[in-house]
Amino acid sequence: MKTIYFDNNATTKVAEEVLEEMKPLFCDLYGNPSSMHTFGGQISHRIRKAREQVAALLGCDPSEIIFTSCGTESDNAAIKGTLSAYPEKRKVITTRVEHPAVLSVCRELENHGYTIVELAVDKLGLLDLAELEDNLDDDTAIVSIMYANNETGVVFPINKIAEMVSDKNVIFHTDAVQAVGKIPLNLSKSNIDLLSLSGHKLHGPKGVGVLYVRKGTRLTPFMQGGHQEAGRRAGTENVPGIVGLGKACELAGKNIEAENNKVKYLRDKLENALLQSCPDSRLNGDKENRLPNTTNISFEFIEGEAILLMLDKFGICASSGSACTSGSLEPSHVLRAMGVPFTAAHGSIRFSLSRYNTEQEVDYTTEKLPPIINRLRELSPFVAE
Ligand code: PLP
Repeated sequence: MKTIYFDNNATTKVAEEVLEEMKPLFCDLYGNPSSMHTFGGQISHRIRKAREQVAALLGCDPSEIIFTSCGTESDNAAIKGTLSAYPEKRKVITTRVEHPAVLSVCRELENHGYTIVELAVDKLGLLDLAELEDNLDDDTAIVSIMYANNETGVVFPINKIAEMVSDKNVIFHTDAVQAVGKIPLNLSKSNIDLLSLSGHKLHGPKGVGVLYVRKGTRLTPFMQGGHQEAGRRAGTENVPGIVGLGKACELAGKNIEAENNKVKYLRDKLENALLQSCPDSRLNGDKENRLPNTTNISFEFIEGEAILLMLDKFGICASSGSACTSGSLEPSHVLRAMGVPFTAAHGSIRFSLSRYNTEQEVDYTTEKLPPIINRLRELSPFVAE
């Protein structure tokens, strides 16, 4: 059975071009870039090239790029490294809809005496910037707000937020793990101080990420050890990963507009067909301010997990908004923050597309899903007779 992959916000296929670029670095060019000999030394220019490729996509200087192991590490390094650089400041502002890579870091910091403000979102998943303004004060060390939400695809007005935060002389970090490669960026023209991205979300490899640190930003290194990354992130470099990420960024930058148009066309076709053919279904998140590849739809009165299992039988991969914790299904914190009713939050499914999806896959899914919904509704204890 062919796999139809609509779970690209979870991870993406490594592009063939990326894999080709990485291959020689495993068994042929496997030296350590810090070594004195020529064999190791010849690797460093590959890392330099990757740094330039990432910087070109972000619109920044290569010296502002620090390679990390993943998006989670970049988020941790940004928040903890800032707090450590500004020990006199004890407040962090974030939002209720962040990925756990930010939210659980903040909640842990609360246990260590920091004041954490989690900004609310409205029913469309949008922020009230007046709430941010009211909370910014001299005690605030860092504001960390995601660029685009991984569950709903909702995009926040990050450049405007960064400007507001910078006006108060506070450090601004954005988790752009879902945005990079989908939203054109020019960091040289923005007030963003710190930005996280992850290789495996943009057709690069897993196990590599980036923390962009604007020149002059005070940040204590999160990892201590060797002097890699100009002393800003210790640990022998994941050379194949870094080289692969560089290539993935180059590819993303080349095709961003054409790919967004294609992916948005397919996403809209899928979304419209499902909303029309499935009664009691609703879109979660703002329709306009959204990533082109993501749709999050609730099918009322049924469990998302049951839908996923039945889709899986047809080879269709998507993801649900619930997380199985301690044997009970917890509805997503993002949908709860948006006030999505319990019966709808439980039945939410996220489809996230990529450049590799086709119209045939969309048509196949729109044919298979409505009968699944009908069947599950017949079995659901929540649907009135
Ligand atoms: N931030 C967001 C918004 C994400 O979607 C993810 C992964 O899903 C992460 C951070 C974590 O990235 P990584 O898997 O590279 O640690």
